[in-house]
Formats: sequence, C-alpha cells, structure tokens
Amino acid sequence: VLRLRGVRRAFGDHVVLDGIDLDVAAHEVVALVGASGSGKSTLLRTINLIEQVDDGEILLRGEEVSDPRVDADGVRARIGVVFQHYNLFPHLSVLDNVTLASRLVHRVPRAEAERRGLELLASIGLADFARAFPDRLSGGQQQRAAIVRAIATGPELLLLDEVTSALDPELVGEVLALVRSLADGGTTIVMATHEMAFAREVADRVVFLDAGRIIEDAPARQFFEAPREERTREFLARFL
Ligand code: ATP
Ligand code: MG
Repeated sequence: VLRLRGVRRAFGDHVVLDGIDLDVAAHEVVALVGASGSGKSTLLRTINLIEQVDDGEILLRGEEVSDPRVDADGVRARIGVVFQHYNLFPHLSVLDNVTLASRLVHRVPRAEAERRGLELLASIGLADFARAFPDRLSGGQQQRAAIVRAIATGPELLLLDEVTSALDPELVGEVLALVRSLADGGTTIVMATHEMAFAREVADRVVFLDAGRIIEDAPARQFFEAPREERTREFLARFL
C-alpha cells in the first residue's frame, strides 16, 4: 500500500529524516518507535504530505504521491490521520465532526453519511453524544471519536501519532482497545507510539528510528525479544 524510498527531510542543516526506506503492506500494522526528536512525527507528516520531501519518493498504491504535481488534497483524502491532541473541531457536533469529510470531500449525501457516522459512534459507545460538542467528552472519548472520524471515509491507510500520550492514564486503555479492534479488522495502520507493551501486542512490525534513520525494522516479537541492533537494545532497556 505504502512505499518510501530514500525519503529525506531537513530543516536548515538539521537532517530530520535521513534516507527512510519503508514498505507497508495492506492490513499491516507498523509501530514507529524511537526517542523524542528521532523523527517519528515528521515521518508521519511527510507520508500525509503535510511536510514536503527534499529527496526520495513516497508511493501510495504504486502512485508517486511525493511528486509536487500530485494533488495533495486528493492524496490526503485517502489517508486517515489522528494526532496527539486537538483533533476534533470544537464548533461542530461530534456527529458533524465524524461526517464532515464524507460529506464535503467524498460527496456522500448527508443522510447516508449520518447513518454511517451514528453507526460508528454507536460502535464506540458514543451514540448519545452525537449531537453534543466535543468539550462535553472526556479526552479518551474525544480521541476515540477522532479515530472513528479518521476511518469514516474508508481510508487506505490510517496514521496515528501518539494518540494516547496526552491522556490521563485511566483513559489510555479505551483508546488502545479501539486501535486494537481496527487492527484486528484489517485496517492498515502506521502509528508512532511510546506504548511499548501496546506496540508489542498490536503491531505486526516495529520500526525503530534514531536521529532520522531506521536502525531496525523487524517483526514485533523479534524486535522485543531478540533485537539485532545494539542501539535497539539500549533503547528498549529504558522501558524495563
Ligand atoms: P516525539 O517523540 O517527541 O514526538 P518525534 O520522534 O516525533 O518526537 P519529530 O517531531 O519528528 O520527532 O521531530 C524531529 C526533529 O525535527 C526534532 O529535532 C524537531 O525539533 C525537528 N523539527 C520538526 N519539525 C520542525 C520544523 N517545522 N522546523 C524545524 N525543526 C523541526
Ligand atoms: Mg512526535
């Protein structure tokens, strides 16, 4: 589904992504891990074309989307994204948040978009909040609503950037449970996370970034139980 070749991004002379090669297959769940500042968020923003690439290429279903001539909005419409916080539009109801992209970008008729939106909200126990504004929801409920909003249009790829790190600890579990159910349902996911136990449990593969380079890219079990690289071992030792 997704292929990165030699992706490079620098801010001034600070190289943040230094030749990233990454392949993500359909239905695969890939966890991006690494120290703060290693480039995880920049990589996700680059995939979503929020950040431009200085060199290298990004292919989505074989189409080179990093080509500046490509319609970036059209590409973004095929990718769902959830960030750490402030995902929902505060001035729109929860249901309008969930249906907005379907209606405006994908031209789904309102009745149909709302039927699907209510179904999604019901699936996460938030049907009663459909007409409420986001500030009525807990942080965990907001993030879950943001995640179903991101999948409401049936994207080819879901990007999650530390979706639990702004939450109180007791709210983390409900958000991770939703991500796990999407993963089990076959959604293709690339997620940056500091939750190692979760990465281990849900991800098919773990990619370890250090200073903008992929140090190790391995099946989750191997990554945690038998990492090949010394730097991966040092990184993991901090979580023990
Ligand atoms: P964290 O775990 O803290 O979220 P991260 O792995 O997501 O970290 P990034 O946010 O991708 O790291 O940042 C990587 C580096 O790029 C950092 O040194 C950051 O300061 C730098 N950086 C990111 N965006 C910009 C920008 N727009 N201008 C300048 N430097 C930037
Ligand atoms: Mg980040």
